[in-house]
Amino acid sequence: MLKIGCHLSVSKGFYEMGKDAVKINANTIQFFTRNPRGGSAKPIDENDVEKFLNLAKENNIESLLAHAPYTLNACAKDESIRKFAKETMEDDLKRMQYFKESMYNFHPGSHVGQGVEIGIKYIVEMLNDILKEEQTTTVLLETMAGKGSEVGRNFEEIKEIIDKVKLDGHLGVCLDTCHIFDGGYDIVSHLDDVLDEFDKVIGLSRLKAIHLNDSLNTLGSHKDRHAKIGEGNIGIDAITRIINHEKLKNLPFFLETPNELEGYGKEIALLRSLYKE
Ligand code: FE
Ligand code: FE
Ligand code: ZN
Repeated sequence: MLKIGCHLSVSKGFYEMGKDAVKINANTIQFFTRNPRGGSAKPIDENDVEKFLNLAKENNIESLLAHAPYTLNACAKDESIRKFAKETMEDDLKRMQYFKESMYNFHPGSHVGQGVEIGIKYIVEMLNDILKEEQTTTVLLETMAGKGSEVGRNFEEIKEIIDKVKLDGHLGVCLDTCHIFDGGYDIVSHLDDVLDEFDKVIGLSRLKAIHLNDSLNTLGSHKDRHAKIGEGNIGIDAITRIINHEKLKNLPFFLETPNELEGYGKEIALLRSLYKE
């Protein structure tokens, strides 16, 4: 069965979020660990989490992906911003332990003119500080579109970070289809080549999740604006090939398209109808 879900709001608690997922026939869920702008997180309500975990089990919701606030910047120039990113992620990972085998995705950061090597050095330092041997959450680096000075604009930059982290067994990659398309990887006409390159540079065993988005912009535009499935420049045919590709079809997919719950439900139904078991 296709593992597909979308980004959902956790503002009414985990159990209510789970009910939303069931309503739209999703069996994966992504949520922000806190306000995307990076405010303080609500304390975990253990009763709510337990109700959510039971609901998830009954409904075969297999993949839970927490997303760090996208405003965090682990490789900012300003030390206080880097410190805030580190403390936030450290706290998020602590709270993710309530969910056992979950995943935690973050944007590597923007080096803001310091150069990509300095950027990578700060990101590696942070990961080496916060990853713990006993942690059961896999931390995912998201592939970025290369907007501004974003680190993670190509597979090589992601690989360099992974190589320099000591507890790299806790690391994986989340591939965002809109981002890599905008980043110049032609998943429309050359999906096999792109996946071969991912395998050669990073290794497909690191690939743990897919953000499934269409793109408002063109190949190599370095823009990062998501479109609804089939309404962008990636298009429904390429997206159908992506969800059915033998190297991808068993991974969890997460929609981050511009939709409310109902729109997500329609996209999930459409993608399920296009999936070959
Ligand atoms: Fe993201
Ligand atoms: Fe994404
Ligand atoms: Zn994006």
